[in-house]
Amino acid sequence: MYLWIEDRGVSSSFFDHIWKLKIPLKIQIFLWLLCTKTLLTRTKLRRSGWEGPINCVYCPNDEKIDHLFFACAHVQRMWNCLLIKFHVTEVPNSLEDFLVLANLILEQDQNAFRLCSATVLWTCWLLRNDVCFNASPYATLNTYIAKVKYLVSYWSGMWTPQVKEQVMQLMHVVELEALEEVLPL
Ligand SMILES: [Zn+2]
Repeated sequence: MYLWIEDRGVSSSFFDHIWKLKIPLKIQIFLWLLCTKTLLTRTKLRRSGWEGPINCVYCPNDEKIDHLFFACAHVQRMWNCLLIKFHVTEVPNSLEDFLVLANLILEQDQNAFRLCSATVLWTCWLLRNDVCFNASPYATLNTYIAKVKYLVSYWSGMWTPQVKEQVMQLMHVVELEALEEVLPL
């Protein structure tokens, strides 16, 4: 599976460190499935014979990894709030774009970006599943941020005080950036 990424010219620091991240094992497995594009999105299920809808739960586009986690307008604003801290103005539209971008950012910031990105991706999946299976209303940007903040606080017991401080500082920037947002999702 690692070859899948190398074949496309992306040697990914983010991918390489999935199993070293201080997060629960099930989140590591989720990230591995996502980065190898083997996560069971609706389009993937259709190829296995599933007959349900294949559109994104938020919009008419097909639910593929690239769309659901990066390109959908629903998640782009969350990424924007996180990436602005790293002077990134163009939010990635695909997994490949994200991995290239992550390589550049990880040269400056080893811990907070990895952990916050992992949490954003997991939150995106949780909220999508809530809409799919619990008929929950669509999450607003504030819901995204509150969920990410809750998870990083919950997992921070596994981190050193220094890493915890770095992540909390980054989350503070994310919250301030979200306050600048005017339109609700
Ligand atoms: Zn969408």
